[in-house]
Amino acid sequence: MRGLTRRKFLAIGGALAATHWLANQAACQAAPLWADHRTHGPFQCQATFPLDKFSPLFEELSSLELELQRTLAVPPARKNIDVYLFDDETSYREALNQLYPRVPYRRALYVQRGGQGSVYAHWQPELPVDLRHECTHALLHTNLAMVPLWLDEGLAEYFEMVAPQRAFQHPHLSKLRWNLRFGMIRDVESLETCHELSDMGGVEYRFAWAWVHFMLHGPLPAHRALVHYLKDIRQNNPPGQLSERLRMAMPDLEQQFVQHFHQWKR
Ligand SMILES: [Zn+2]
Repeated sequence: MRGLTRRKFLAIGGALAATHWLANQAACQAAPLWADHRTHGPFQCQATFPLDKFSPLFEELSSLELELQRTLAVPPARKNIDVYLFDDETSYREALNQLYPRVPYRRALYVQRGGQGSVYAHWQPELPVDLRHECTHALLHTNLAMVPLWLDEGLAEYFEMVAPQRAFQHPHLSKLRWNLRFGMIRDVESLETCHELSDMGGVEYRFAWAWVHFMLHGPLPAHRALVHYLKDIRQNNPPGQLSERLRMAMPDLEQQFVQHFHQWKR
């Protein structure tokens, strides 16, 4: 149920207190003291702790941008993405309470406000997973005016793993195999009815991830449908529903999905 605790994509319009908080730190009691600042690709990172030992992680995040280009034909980020890192949960909570008092607590957060994407996270053992997840949201949203919630989360779940583990070692895979063994499946249409994060539980996250896996590693027409769908969003063509495109390309969609995971072995 990790998805319930830490993920949130917020689209917040207009100028918020955040701008003042960041620009005018001295005037605000709760403003954090940034100890380090680094730029890696599109990511402008500020942290309340030294970032020396995090260089490999940030290089990996920069390569995520190339990976989205390679796998989804999504162009490089059109804007910089702010990443704010806190050394402990307390200071992270305090900062978020100041900035977004009405947002329920999450372990990491991607926020878009006034067209600027920002990622907030704090140090804990799963920080690399959280950053890859939230930065995937951020990279997608620099290019795409909208991404359906289930697809946004499915892609972020897929890319949250370190690159060599993405295809075969996501924790979703073994649970999914159990679901499929008992004939349990969530189709794309049912995922498309999820419009709020509260609509997405553990099962929805798992099947969102699984359909993304199917489109990236399964039959070519499925991959083509995804790439063309994202391209239409980017070019402001009405994209319709991805499920319709998938069914048009593959009338036996669920059968192919089950078959894909049945065959999916190293
Ligand atoms: Zn997410």
